[in-house]
Amino acid sequence: MAEKRDYYEVLGVDKSASIDEIKKAYRKLAIKYHPDRNPGDKTAEEKFREATEAYEVLSDEKKRPLYDQYGFAGVEGADQGGGAQYSHAFHDFSDLFGGMGGGFGDIFDNLFGGSSFGGSSSSRNADGASEGASLRYDLDISFHDAVFGTKAEIRFKHNEVCDSCHGTGGASGSSRRTCPTCQGTGQIRRSAGFFAVQQTCPTCHGTGTIIDKPCTACHGTGVQEKSKMMTLTIPAGVDNGKRIAIPHQGDAGTNGGPAGDLIVVIHVEEDRFFERDAQDLYCAVPVTMAQAALGCDITVPSLDGKQISLKIPAGTSNGKLLRIKSEGVPYTGSTRRGDLYVKIVVQIPSHLSPQQKSLLEEYLRLENATTAPQLIPLSSLNR
Ligand SMILES: [Zn+2]
Ligand SMILES: [Zn+2]
Repeated sequence: MAEKRDYYEVLGVDKSASIDEIKKAYRKLAIKYHPDRNPGDKTAEEKFREATEAYEVLSDEKKRPLYDQYGFAGVEGADQGGGAQYSHAFHDFSDLFGGMGGGFGDIFDNLFGGSSFGGSSSSRNADGASEGASLRYDLDISFHDAVFGTKAEIRFKHNEVCDSCHGTGGASGSSRRTCPTCQGTGQIRRSAGFFAVQQTCPTCHGTGTIIDKPCTACHGTGVQEKSKMMTLTIPAGVDNGKRIAIPHQGDAGTNGGPAGDLIVVIHVEEDRFFERDAQDLYCAVPVTMAQAALGCDITVPSLDGKQISLKIPAGTSNGKLLRIKSEGVPYTGSTRRGDLYVKIVVQIPSHLSPQQKSLLEEYLRLENATTAPQLIPLSSLNR
């Protein structure tokens, strides 16, 4: 037999952990390794047993100090055999939740609200059917594709209903039958010293039924992981962070439960030249001092590759925003589009030819520029 692991290590908590932290850690492990979720999985069963044993000791205010001081030797002896720990855990839960009857499964359903097992908001019905988990897919698309729409091929893995057993978890010809150990009650009685205690049936883990021959393709889980490819239509005008839900493409449900959804989260890459604010686009174009002062016609390359002519009026200041109508982002499901704003960046030459220099010097003389101290109101700036 493998050496026993330290109880704190088993629960993944600190030696100084509070009772709440211990409860939380156990709850997490119990949900993950509960036999109901892992039918036929011996490793999970062992982990569940190990965690329950650790919880049973560390949640007990008498046993925990003994364990801290003497290790396993401090808490062994009172319990004969591994099975007894289950019954203690059982009583702990009963105390916590008002002494409910029923099996371990009921306790877990009450303690964890049932839904925890399915990983979704739906609860299990009487047949144990539960909805499959919803999956998230992160899709990167270019700025251009976000504005104009695209088709994206996505590849993902999800659980599908097992082909071999059609989700029953049983091999062909096998069926769920009443558990022979507990005759379907999910509980067995066992005497421990002076007391007879109820404990979860080790054969069926409290479900009351067993599959005599688990399906070999899915190891009795009823689902198989499969790769899937889909072509997704991304509508024009999607924004960064947009979520597109694709119904029933998440994980298959168990025991006939519905599949979860696939949630595609759109991430829009930045563009070197264009920015977006809702349905409007922004870009910047350079013009020379003379063009800005005298006015001119320029051509602006649009996001969709068109050449749009734009009139720069005489006397255009640096930073001025000029609007080109209906060259922005399409409104989803409409032919209407936002506008394109073009920011004018007046460029001051850093190198002048001798002729340019002498012309500018002459211009300066005509300009009569003052060097007297003065300010301009900040509100007049295009910022
Ligand atoms: Zn199967
Ligand atoms: Zn049983």
